Amino acid sequence: MSFLPRFPAMGQIALVGAGPGAADLLTIRALRRIEAADVIFHDRLIDPEVLALSPARKVFVGKEVGANAWPQTRINAVITAAALSGLKVVRLKSGDPSIFGRAAEELDAARAAGIPIEIVPGITAASAAASALGRPLTERGQTERLVIATATCRPGTVATLAIAPGTTLALYMAMHRLAEVEAELMAMGVPPESDVQIVQSAGCENQRIVECTLHGMANAAAGFANPAIVLVRWTAPAMVGEWTMQRSSITC
Ligand code: SAH
Repeated sequence: MSFLPRFPAMGQIALVGAGPGAADLLTIRALRRIEAADVIFHDRLIDPEVLALSPARKVFVGKEVGANAWPQTRINAVITAAALSGLKVVRLKSGDPSIFGRAAEELDAARAAGIPIEIVPGITAASAAASALGRPLTERGQTERLVIATATCRPGTVATLAIAPGTTLALYMAMHRLAEVEAELMAMGVPPESDVQIVQSAGCENQRIVECTLHGMANAAAGFANPAIVLVRWTAPAMVGEWTMQRSSITC
C-alpha cells in the first residue's frame, strides 16, 4: 500500500471544429473526440444535433443574445482546470477552430499548464458557402487567390486589405457593417459590378442565399442576419487569359 498522494491523471484538450452547423459536416475525427469527451465547452452557433452525439456534460461558454459573453480568460481557466482534473475536454467551436476562433489564447493557456492540446479542423463557413452555391471559391483564370478576412475588428479594417484583381474575398462577421464594407471596397478600386454572394446559415436547413453586385450589396442583403458570410469576387481582367493563350499558341 502506498502512502504517496494520488494525483489524477492529466487530461487533455481538443479544440474541435464543429463545421457550419450540420451534424453530417463534422469530420470523423471531430466525431470521435466528441463521442469520447467527458465535458464539452461550446459556443452559441453549435447545432443541438451535434451536441446530442455525446453523453458528455455540456457547458455553454458563448454569448447569449443580449447578454455578456464569457470573458476569454475565464474560458481559458475553466478548460485548463477541467483537463488538470483528469478530464477529456472538447472545446467545440463553429467552423474551423483556427479561423476567427480565439484558438491562440486557449492553446497558450493549455501549453502554459503543460496540458496536451490539439486542433481538430472543421469545415469553415467559406467552404460551406461554396457548397451551398455549387460554385468554387477559386476559379481558374478568374480568381486564383482567396482572402479570408473579418470585417469586425474596427472601422476601416477592410480598407487595409491588400487585395488585387483575381481575388475572392471571404468576409466573416460582416453583416452589421455591410454598407461601410461596400463603400470601403469600392473606394479601394474593387469594381462596383463585381459578383457578390451572401450565404446565411450555409450548410444548415435554414440556409438562405442572395446574389448581387458589390454596388447595392447592403440593400440586397436587407433581412439577412448572422451567421452569414459574404463572398466578393474581384475577377482578373479577361486579357490575362487571352494573352496566355496567344503566347502558348506561338510557342507550341
Ligand atoms: N470558426 C468559424 C468562424 C467563426 S466567426 C468558421 O471557420 O467558420 C463567426 C462568423 O462565421 C459569423 O459571423 C459568420 O460570418 C461565419 N459563419 C459561421 N457559421 C456560418 C454559417 N453556417 N453560414 C454562414 N456563415 C457562418
